[in-house]
Amino acid sequence: MSIARNLHDIRTSIDKLAREYNRDPATIQLIAVSKVQPEERITEALECGLRVFGENRVQEAQQRWAPRRADYPDLELHLIGPLQTNKAKDAVALFDCIHTLDREKLARALSAEMAAQNKSLPCLIQVNTGAEDQKSGIAPHELSDFLGFCRNDCKLDVTGLMCIPPVDDPPALHFALLRKLARENNVQGLSMGMSGDYEWAVPLDATYIRVGTALFGERVKPL
Ligand SMILES: *Cc1c(COP(=O)(O)O)cnc(C)c1O
Repeated sequence: MSIARNLHDIRTSIDKLAREYNRDPATIQLIAVSKVQPEERITEALECGLRVFGENRVQEAQQRWAPRRADYPDLELHLIGPLQTNKAKDAVALFDCIHTLDREKLARALSAEMAAQNKSLPCLIQVNTGAEDQKSGIAPHELSDFLGFCRNDCKLDVTGLMCIPPVDDPPALHFALLRKLARENNVQGLSMGMSGDYEWAVPLDATYIRVGTALFGERVKPL
């Protein structure tokens, strides 16, 4: 298993799909999901030239990336996991983009923190396209109001939508719904597609693809 090899395969597949669907591959950002991966794989990924990483826990991401920031000034960190409001401060300090804006309380906390830290991070709204009870995210019919709240009341820079399809559903259904919602609400970014389903996401206009295991291999510790 080599990350360079995996990366080559994934990029080749994204490029091929992009061409087939008349998309510019440069508009598709691959996010390397490094959560739970051992240090040597992180180093290997950096040596392959990867600079855009996704993490789902603030504290783990801090421990891993804060010491590396000085050596890699072009590093870009994306938060792709649920965010508690009491971690908003650390998240705003560390990350460059938040993919999991999913409730008013969090929108308020992020807004206050960004003001305090004089930052304006791009945020994506997580949409619960499968209406799953255990999954976070805004219900599709509430999206328009929530987007207005984030933009007008909280002055957040909402650049797109994100979803995680239910495991047993065809992912393309959810990606198509997310794209439809983005068009209706006039947002551009679409964070969708993981190791098992990114090949469905590219044809449906994904702009961020979040790939972990297909790139790094299996995560050692289950989440
Ligand atoms: C872990 C995770 C990923 C990556 O999953 P893989 O199947 O390993 O590619 C993508 N998105 C989110 C939100 C995740 O939590």
